[in-house]
Amino acid sequence: MEPVITRFPPSPTGSLHIGGARTALFNWLFARSRGGRFILRIEDTDVERSTEESVKAILDAMEWLELGWDEGPYYQTHRLEVYREYARKLFDSGHAYWCECSAEQLEMRRNAAMAEGRKPKYDGACRTKGLGEGPNRVLRFRTSETGTTVLKDIIKGPIEFDNSELDDLVILKSDGIPTYNFAVVIDDITMGITHVIRGDDHVNNTPRQILIYRALGAKLPEFGHVPMIHGEDRSPLSKRHGATSVMEYKKMGFLPEALLNCLVRLGWSHGDEEIFSRDELIEKFTLENVGKSPSIFTMEKLLWLNAHYIKEKRPEELVNLLRPFAAQRDYLDKSDTFMAGAIRTLQPRAHTLVEMADAMRFYMVDEIQFEPEAAVKFLTAEMREVFSRLISELSELEAFDEASLEPVFRNTAEDLKVKLGKIAQPVRVALTGGTKSPGLFEIMEVLGKETVIERLKKGLKYIEEN
Ligand code: GLU
Repeated sequence: MEPVITRFPPSPTGSLHIGGARTALFNWLFARSRGGRFILRIEDTDVERSTEESVKAILDAMEWLELGWDEGPYYQTHRLEVYREYARKLFDSGHAYWCECSAEQLEMRRNAAMAEGRKPKYDGACRTKGLGEGPNRVLRFRTSETGTTVLKDIIKGPIEFDNSELDDLVILKSDGIPTYNFAVVIDDITMGITHVIRGDDHVNNTPRQILIYRALGAKLPEFGHVPMIHGEDRSPLSKRHGATSVMEYKKMGFLPEALLNCLVRLGWSHGDEEIFSRDELIEKFTLENVGKSPSIFTMEKLLWLNAHYIKEKRPEELVNLLRPFAAQRDYLDKSDTFMAGAIRTLQPRAHTLVEMADAMRFYMVDEIQFEPEAAVKFLTAEMREVFSRLISELSELEAFDEASLEPVFRNTAEDLKVKLGKIAQPVRVALTGGTKSPGLFEIMEVLGKETVIERLKKGLKYIEEN
């Protein structure tokens, strides 16, 4: 069997979006799962709309998702000679002709056709003129006017198109720049692409591309068109549904593992499994398991997956991922060990790194603020004795861990005849400022004796003054 070669050919007219990332992932996975190669190609022939900045944004996103490519990035604008050479071949074999119709003439004839109820396609005015290359001329592909072209799609099954419906499409513009449908075919032929996997918004382009392959006597690749991604309201995913660019998800505190896992399930399934490591995906991915109907992107699912991957990581790994988020806040510069300890206590509940960075505040600042309502409710006069007692007992402790802290709390409660449960919330408010936090002894161990005593004293002061 010939080796599989897939490609991802983004147009650099913006950042990498969820849909594009899924296409890249499917191509990457298919190549990896078949021991093949994955090529990155930048389709920058739309010179007006393509920018360096978008190229960089796309490459950054691919790197963040760890979708490494084996070849490229190739740039179409560096390959203009190649397209010209193939255009010449098509002209020489009679499959293409030069056309001198101006934009205004075309417009007029299109309008006339529509007014008469005819299809507004190119009317073939220059087909038989036998023109040569010249200024303001475009090269058009001579599409056969009869017969049908069948796209045998791996995902969608066979789709038949009437050739008479297809235009004599422009393949080279008057400035010598190739159009998408032509450049893509020449690239896919010359790069030896065996499988073209892309969004099904390209289905209607495919018969035109197939005709160009045939005219050049080239072998067709396999085509697989992946259904669109929809939002929860079942309309195609767009800005209206929230963030669409991959890097926005990074900023929102998602892990690449979670986004990849979410992306792969947009269209592909393996029984009712939801969680896949990269290696499992490479082992299990097949195009046969890509569904025929649009898939729905939900934030809820992504959050669930992200929480899963956050739990799975070692706290030490999360330290570096959290540092940029800590740097955006007024946090102190804490050691890796301290942060890892704090992270371990927050891992079970965080859905995103942003959520974790926020929840981490009480570990990362010197001065915590009491939430007013929590302070009024829990830092009450009856806690005065409890706090004094805890402060003196805790000051005596040598080890400051769950095993040594627990008896101090138990004994204090017994001696002062208050329920242990009554003590926990006031202490939590004193240590964290609020009423929600990981387990009390866990956070005390991370904060350390000095900070705990300092904060209890501040709590006591509040009690005494209010
Ligand atoms: N540059 C095209 C796009 O971004 C590529 C389409 C294709 O895969 O052929 O939509």
